[in-house]
Amino acid sequence: MRRCEMVRNKKEEFKNTANVAIYPGSFDPITYGHIDIVERALVIFDKVIIAIAENEEKRPLFSVEERLQMVEEIFKDTPNVIVDSFKGLLVNYVAKTNAKVSLRGLRATSDFEYEFHMASMNRSLSTQLDTLFMMTSKDYFFVSSRTIKEVARLGGGVEGLVPDLVVTRLREKFKLPVTKRKQIGWDD
Ligand code: ADP
Repeated sequence: MRRCEMVRNKKEEFKNTANVAIYPGSFDPITYGHIDIVERALVIFDKVIIAIAENEEKRPLFSVEERLQMVEEIFKDTPNVIVDSFKGLLVNYVAKTNAKVSLRGLRATSDFEYEFHMASMNRSLSTQLDTLFMMTSKDYFFVSSRTIKEVARLGGGVEGLVPDLVVTRLREKFKLPVTKRKQIGWDD
C-alpha cells in the first residue's frame, strides 16, 4: 500500500476513535524529550497525532518532509500514533480531526509563559480545544531541539538524547564540504 493511502486509512480510523490527543510542534528535530511525552500520552489517550508545524518563519534546519520522514520512521511500529503536518492555525487543523486535546510538554518555568499564552490564545480561538501539559521527565528536562542543533553543529555528541537516525541526519546536515575543509586548512 502506498504511503499516502496508508496515512489516509489511518486518519479515517482515528476519526472513529474518541480519545485522541494532538501533539503539535516543530520537531526540528524530534528528541527523546518529545518521544517520552508521546509514550506517556499513549497511556492516557487511545491515539496521538503528532502534528508537525510548517512554519518557515522559524527557519527550520530540517524541511517538513525531512521531519515527517524521521518521525514516521521512529513511530513506524506504533500503530496508535499518526504523523502529519499542518500549516497555519492549530485550531483550524484540529477542526479537521476529532482531537479535543492539544498536548504540550513543559520543561522549566521559562516554557511556562509562552505555553500559557499559546494555550490561552488557542482557547480563545476555539473552545473545542483544550491544552494538556505534561511535565518533562528527569532524563530530558535539559533537552530541546534548539540545543541539540547547537551542540551537533559544534561537533558535540548528542547520542542518547535523540534517536540514532536523528544523530545520523544531524551529522549529514552539519558536515562541511571536503573542499572547504581543505581550503581553510583543517586537514593539515
Ligand atoms: P515548538 O516550536 O512548537 O515549541 P517543539 O518541537 O520545540 O515545538 O516542542 C513541542 C512541544 O514539546 C513543546 O510543548 C515543548 O515544550 C515540548 N518539549 C520539547 N522538548 C521537551 C522535553 N525535553 N521534555 C518535555 N517536553 C518537551
